[in-house]
Amino acid sequence: TPLRAATLTEFAGRVSTPTYDRSRISTGIAHFGVGGFHRAHQAMYVDRLLERGLGQDWGICGVGVLPGDRRMRDVLRAQDGLYTLSTVAPDGAWTTRAIGSLVEYRYAPDDPEAAVAKLTDPVTRIVSLTITEGGYHIAAATGEFDADDPGIRADLAGSAPPATVFGLVTEALARRRSAGLAPFTVLSCDNIEGNGDVARRMFGAFAALRDPGLGSWVAEQVRFPNSMVDRITPVTPAGATGEVERRYGLIDRWPVVTEPFAQWVLEDSFGLGRPAFEEVGVQVVDDVTPYELMKLRLLNASHQALCYFGYLSGYRLVHEAAQDPDFRRFLLRYMDAEATPTLRPVPGVDLDAYKRTLLDRFANPAIGDTIARLCAESSDRIPKWLLPVVRAQLATGGEIDCAAAVVASWARYAEGVDEHGAKIEIVDRLRDRLTPLARRQRRQPTAFLGERSLFGDLIDHPRFVTAYLAALDSLRTRGAHATVEELAR
Ligand code: NAD
Repeated sequence: TPLRAATLTEFAGRVSTPTYDRSRISTGIAHFGVGGFHRAHQAMYVDRLLERGLGQDWGICGVGVLPGDRRMRDVLRAQDGLYTLSTVAPDGAWTTRAIGSLVEYRYAPDDPEAAVAKLTDPVTRIVSLTITEGGYHIAAATGEFDADDPGIRADLAGSAPPATVFGLVTEALARRRSAGLAPFTVLSCDNIEGNGDVARRMFGAFAALRDPGLGSWVAEQVRFPNSMVDRITPVTPAGATGEVERRYGLIDRWPVVTEPFAQWVLEDSFGLGRPAFEEVGVQVVDDVTPYELMKLRLLNASHQALCYFGYLSGYRLVHEAAQDPDFRRFLLRYMDAEATPTLRPVPGVDLDAYKRTLLDRFANPAIGDTIARLCAESSDRIPKWLLPVVRAQLATGGEIDCAAAVVASWARYAEGVDEHGAKIEIVDRLRDRLTPLARRQRRQPTAFLGERSLFGDLIDHPRFVTAYLAALDSLRTRGAHATVEELAR
């Protein structure tokens, strides 16, 4: 039976289902980027609130802007906004719930004006985002807003209806400002250090390019809370729809499968109120920084430490590499000797336990996370997650060997050919620029590292360059696995 509002009661004994009346939920949140992660994380937390009888005016209206979101529109429309979220424990046990918090969905290109009207409507008090690291248009070398993008330029020119997140959100803010309405809060839930501060700078810059007065108003009046988000959510596996049907007799055309762990640390800075997230396990704090540094530099940077070496070693699934004792020791060495010294004390967190838990989460075979997912869009990830560790360690004289080797493993991977001469399918918006650079390093070993738009002045640090070249040479002469083994000792 297909999952729909009318069929929910049929499944109620087999999966957990909303017991609240969804028809009474109104939207207070508009969310851009309804993908796997949002549906495993924020939408799950809001669903928990609704289940507790709280936050009936904080339902979610999803907003899609990219062609790829048409499918989400169609699925959610067919399923009345319902989808299943399954958490799979390392022993393979499934726990599944139909999530009810997405009560509306708009695909903006269908009707941009209606999308702007929704954002302008005073009921919309939070606009949240999971639009990927690349979605913010941050120039890697300067950290400033990069307006050199066809969509951004078109939205700045303003001759057509807004089409990007920046265009839509800013148009709505401009209308609210003219109408004397308070702005909504913009809540970034992407994996970017200081995601709220970054969102403030990027949206402020876009608004200022439209109209300097609006730019200052956005920078001063709009709240952009920082947040640390965590739940490893792979791309929905191909067999997930069939698996859900087999287990529960329910057809969900786009289910989400994720790990049991979830964490959200949220800065308490909201202009027009917020749901009582602290009631459902969210840590609401004054300063998110220590938590997000911990998460980005231990979890996300370790993902990068694992993925290129893992791929080149022949692994395709994250847990396969994470279960390899050499990889485990290598990751632990990176975390202990290089990342941890750059962290601040994290209130209430035992870092050693956190790191061990991380390695166990990576090793969870049940969720089938792919190395390809971690390798995608590396040019957005390495500069944001790993290079801050390198810079901090260079400044204090700390160890950088593992991090340098990770950068080298990316450089080797970016050549687009594996250790057996087979083609690697590189997914990166800078691919056409990076592949030739990476290939040139066979003759000129620093060619890749010399790309200042990504690596800034790293090439001017002899200590880093030495470690990087040693790793690159080892990758070439001895191979990825032997290089990891050596670093793991
Ligand atoms: P996904 O591919 O399932 O969904 C991404 C969504 O973002 C899609 O709706 C897509 O259309 C939209 N999007 C992408 N680029 C955009 C742009 N330029 N403008 C507007 N919308 C854009 O990916 P996901 O797994 O949901 O992850 C999304 C983001 O969430 C990640 O990039 C990361 O920052 C954050 N996150 C993910 C995880 C995870 O484990 N998947 C964990 C923590 C944080």
